[in-house]
Amino acid sequence: MSTTDDYRTGKIVEGIRKAEMVLDSRSALAAGDPAFERIREKIVAFRPVWITAEQAAELIRQAEIVAVGERVCRALHPESPVTQTVFLDELAEAMAEAGKAGIVTAAAAMQVVNRQSRQRFIASMVSGRYLELCAVWPPDCVFCKAERAGVRCFGEHRDSRI
Ligand code: SF4
Repeated sequence: MSTTDDYRTGKIVEGIRKAEMVLDSRSALAAGDPAFERIREKIVAFRPVWITAEQAAELIRQAEIVAVGERVCRALHPESPVTQTVFLDELAEAMAEAGKAGIVTAAAAMQVVNRQSRQRFIASMVSGRYLELCAVWPPDCVFCKAERAGVRCFGEHRDSRI
């Protein structure tokens, strides 16, 4: 499972980079391939789930601390469009401490959510809770890439709030 510390230190970006390397090399995707299996376990551990803008707003309302920053995987794809991520509670604190996001009011975070053209987000589990709400850029998203490679990672909602 990924932790807030992985996000604070940037270890998460390195993990995504390694996962993308495996997913982008289609020949490595044979079932039972140990490298592929390791990536699959790590990706599934985020329990990513698509949520609507309304569900994102509900999670924001229930959070004590909210921060907004660039989606973390854009560090690997600087040429891609900017999309924003809302970080909640301890992840918001960790990202703000690291200078990777800014603490905002819930109202400001909702404005960010409502400004996203697709109005669909991926909620990811960090340190055991859904603390990352990403306005995804699907062509570069590691979860979307995994699905395209045949790894089923998007599950049913696993949090009573969403
Ligand atoms: S686009 Fe996908 S991989 Fe990138 S930060 Fe968002 S949820 Fe994570």
